[in-house]
Amino acid sequence: MPKKRTANQTYVREVNLSLVLRHLHNEAPVSRAQIAVVTGLNKSTVSSLVEDLLNRGLIRENGINSVGQGRPATLLEINPGAGCIIGVQLGVDFAAVALTDFVGKIQWRQTIETNPSEAKEQILAQTLSLVSKAMDAARQKQCNLLGLGLSVPGTVDIEQGVLTFAPNLHWQNIPLRKIFSDHTGLKTFVDNDANAAAIAEHLFGVARQIKDFIFVFAGVGIGGGLFMNGNLYRGKNGFAGEIGHSPIIGDFPPLTCHCGNRGCWETYANKDSILHRMQTYLDEKRSSTIPEMISDQNVPLSISMIKQAADVNDDNAIHALAEAGVAMGQGFAGLTNIFNPEKIILGGPLANAGEYMLPSIEKYMVKHSLNEAGSQVQVLLSSFGADASLIGGIAIVVDDILSNPIQVERR
Ligand SMILES: [Zn+2]
Repeated sequence: MPKKRTANQTYVREVNLSLVLRHLHNEAPVSRAQIAVVTGLNKSTVSSLVEDLLNRGLIRENGINSVGQGRPATLLEINPGAGCIIGVQLGVDFAAVALTDFVGKIQWRQTIETNPSEAKEQILAQTLSLVSKAMDAARQKQCNLLGLGLSVPGTVDIEQGVLTFAPNLHWQNIPLRKIFSDHTGLKTFVDNDANAAAIAEHLFGVARQIKDFIFVFAGVGIGGGLFMNGNLYRGKNGFAGEIGHSPIIGDFPPLTCHCGNRGCWETYANKDSILHRMQTYLDEKRSSTIPEMISDQNVPLSISMIKQAADVNDDNAIHALAEAGVAMGQGFAGLTNIFNPEKIILGGPLANAGEYMLPSIEKYMVKHSLNEAGSQVQVLLSSFGADASLIGGIAIVVDDILSNPIQVERR
């Protein structure tokens, strides 16, 4: 009769499976012997764990390492074909859905514009129909769906999968996990857009292996994903990181924010603030290529248009973006003084024009930081630009599988 494992042995094995899978995710390609050295597990245990992960299709063998002495060793890596994942980003004025493989490579995607003044039922129905299309795409590729991750512009009760409050959408207490899992039958996760993007940068992007960093999501709102000591810091109620609503006074007159308070950081550095500044310059009849663009393209003023104008050296367009960078830099200084991060990563829709904001962000961050911490922080643009939170939805699912590999069945 085969020996039955005790509950404790089963638990230890699950923890070790996760340990090996995470190591492969971070360091691949590696050999079984290298895994044994790094994890401190004995070689036969590592072989058995690797066999298990191979059977689940989560990893694959990839070539032989014949460098160094001794027998050449087979190298292992994460299997991109382990399955597909659906990522959903609910923005304030758009919804995006992507289908990726297990290493976050996009296989299919679609984005629609939404209007925050529409009923939420309508926006959700449009988004669910995009999700159905992504499921069709997975079926056509004969790809096994592993889960769905949803990122949203507001505070989330991640245990319950409920969007508790999205100030820029005026949505409250929406049971998004239930809505999306009922529609798809998939294991579903919901998280705040900046938190999701921070997980994406940590797993796949510019913050791999970085223990202390902050992801700043900049779009209609400004939110932060705070990675502290290797983990996402969520605060007592999971609401940490609402950095855009911390007040900054600096050189700006107090304006009223969507949240009802006055003087919030995001009011000076968000998308609307840039559009408003540019519109003011245009109303003052300052010289700019933008009026010509508006009449040629027959579309209203947008961030991408201001970026296009900046690309052809339109001084006023460059100035509108740089001014938002001043406010952004003051906000970054506050983060630096409180958290002393190694990196601050700018992502979300405004990251597309980030190159024009970075110089003033860096200058004002240093100016308003208390000590050398300010000059040591690296300010970077997201690896995923405007898609950081979309890839964030994917990353939440991958992160859960890295923690609990046994949820993926043996093949
Ligand atoms: Zn506010």
